[in-house]
This record gives sequence, C-alpha cells and structure tokens, in this order.
Amino acid sequence: MEVCCLCRLQSGFNYGHLADALDRGRAAIRARIAHETTRILAGGLGLGTIFIVLFAMGVVWCIADQRQRCPECLHRLALPVRIGTWASIFEPVATEYVCGDGHGVLCAAEHESAVEDRWTVLDASWR
Ligand SMILES: [Zn+2]
Repeated sequence: MEVCCLCRLQSGFNYGHLADALDRGRAAIRARIAHETTRILAGGLGLGTIFIVLFAMGVVWCIADQRQRCPECLHRLALPVRIGTWASIFEPVATEYVCGDGHGVLCAAEHESAVEDRWTVLDASWR
C-alpha cells in the first residue's frame, strides 16, 4: 500500500490520491472525445441541461411538499381521506388531510377544473 506523507490529513483519509484519481479520470474522458466542439457541447450544454432539469425537479418537489403541510405549524398533514367521485360534477374528487396537532383540515382538489385547495381552521377543542 502506497502512503503519501505530504497529502495525508489528520482524518487519515488520503485526499491527494483521490484528487489524482479524479484528474486521471477527467483526462481519460477528454482523450476519448476527439472533437473540440463535441467536448464543449457535452461539457457545457450537457451539464447545463442536467443542472436545469435537476433544479426544476427540486422546485416541483418543494412545491408539492409545501402543499401537504400545515400552514401554522409546518408539520406534514396526515390521515388522507378521499371524498367525492370522478363522475360527479357537483361533488368532485378531493382529498382531505388533517393536521396532527389539530390546527385545521386541508381539502385538496384532485381535478384541475375543481375549486382550489381549501384550508379549514379547527377550533381549540380539536387540540
Ligand atoms: Zn398544524
């Protein structure tokens, strides 16, 4: 086993050899891509596209997560109960969630043409 005294940190993990391995891997990948334009497109546009897609997925996940939280205590809502039917115009499908601490009930519409989500505050007798 090879030990390098110059790049060994106090944690005992040898970061210098890890950086060398990453440099060798990066050089090997660059050597396989022959054209400069392809290298730029793969590096710039490809990584930029991956970043934008991952960022958009994070934003969508964050909005979906916030939709199912209590606006008062920010705990996740629990006990989902589906009400209504897909065939009914007057009683569209919705899911009701309740805050575990008794702050309120969220009625989340599942159909796009239905009314928006409705938050109902519960009185102190529910806590
Ligand atoms: Zn709450």
